[in-house]
Formats: sequence, structure tokens, C-alpha cells
Amino acid sequence: MPEYDMKCRGCNARRKVTMTAAEFVSSDVACRKCGGAMVRQMPGAGAPGAPGGHSSKCWPQTDLSFGVHPSQVKEAAETDRKLGVCADYAHNGDKVFPSREAKRKWYNAHRRAKTF
Ligand SMILES: [Zn+2]
Repeated sequence: MPEYDMKCRGCNARRKVTMTAAEFVSSDVACRKCGGAMVRQMPGAGAPGAPGGHSSKCWPQTDLSFGVHPSQVKEAAETDRKLGVCADYAHNGDKVFPSREAKRKWYNAHRRAKTF
């Protein structure tokens, strides 16, 4: 499935959304920070501090889309530890995944816990 780089119209939060082209056309993607509408962002556009642009095949991976505000890193890491998943964050609040498997576990655990 293709991965779409989405940006929130409300708060400019970015995240990558994986879905089929049909889903992309037919469904609205809501921002998990403010609930605003996400629109597609062209790859590489307006990515402050993204080293080397698109790097989804490189691990460890820094993920802007699952990042938190720097002041919330401690709280977010604590939630991750409670869920028993990867609790790494960069100093600026970006989420860091050591591997694809860790990312998958982290994402599934948060989905189950309904943290987003
Ligand atoms: Zn938003």
C-alpha cells in the first residue's frame, strides 16, 4: 500500500498514512492532535530538520508523525513503557523507532490502548 505524507490544516502536524489509493480518495484523514483535516503533503516539502528527506527504509527511524511536544516526551515515554513498547524519543519530541518491528508493535499497542 502506498504511504501518504499528510499535513494538518489546523495545526500543521504531519504524519504518514498508509492506505490504498481508493481509501485515500474516499476517506477523510483526521489529525490526531487537533482533529483537523489532513491534506496530502508532497514529499520533502516543509519538513524542518528532516535529515536526508525520505528515510522510511532506514533504521533506526525518526518519525515526525508520531512525535510529541518536547515537554510531553517524559509522559509519552512513560505511556510507552506501560504498554511494553519502544519508548525512545528524540530531544525535540520526534518518535524514534529502532526497527520496523518495534514500530509495528508500538503502533498496534497504542491502537489497542486508544491513545490516539
Ligand atoms: Zn492538527
